[in-house]
Amino acid sequence: MQLVFATNNLNKLKEVQSLIPEHIKLVSLKDIGCFEDVPETQTTIEGNAIQKADYIKVRYGYDCFADDTGLEVEALNNDPGVYSARYAGEQRDANDNMDKLLLNLKDKTNRSAQFKTVIALHLNGKLETFTGLCKGEITKEKIGDHGFGYDPIFKPNGYSETFAQMDLKLKNEIGHRGKAVQLLIGFLNKL
Ligand code: IMP
Repeated sequence: MQLVFATNNLNKLKEVQSLIPEHIKLVSLKDIGCFEDVPETQTTIEGNAIQKADYIKVRYGYDCFADDTGLEVEALNNDPGVYSARYAGEQRDANDNMDKLLLNLKDKTNRSAQFKTVIALHLNGKLETFTGLCKGEITKEKIGDHGFGYDPIFKPNGYSETFAQMDLKLKNEIGHRGKAVQLLIGFLNKL
């Protein structure tokens, strides 16, 4: 079975591919000839995931899934949330984003945060969504050099390492995207 994964982010593709059973072959946007930016202009993580999946289904006609992820920080009214990629500006720089977040949290004692991933799936004329959460806290400084995005400043609850210090395998097991993908896989396996 082939499914389009509506992404151009190679980190995400690598992560999700390592979680998907072999009989499900992921097809990228490039593979279907989609080279334009897929719009993500909604104000919620769920809204963006659905918008991206709708776009591919309507314009290209393929069954597909799209995901959207954000980091929600309790003391900042759940910011950066849907704006996680461009928190510090349109340059979408991970270091700038982390610096801004650390600065905004400088005087806060509550450093609780969660990653949220929503996957929207168009399959056989139906739309389904799957949500994965990973709760944790924002560290005081960047630690570790694996991963991407906010990984160096996010320490999941129950672990002493940040995501950027962890093996990808462990991050997949306990992480937001892994949980959402497991729900997706559970659904696909029941078909
Ligand atoms: P996207 O919706 O997966 O593109 O994620 C939006 C933004 O959230 C990314 O540009 C990153 O800044 C951040 N992000 C998403 N997933 C992760 C993750 O697993 N670790 C760290 N940051 C992430």
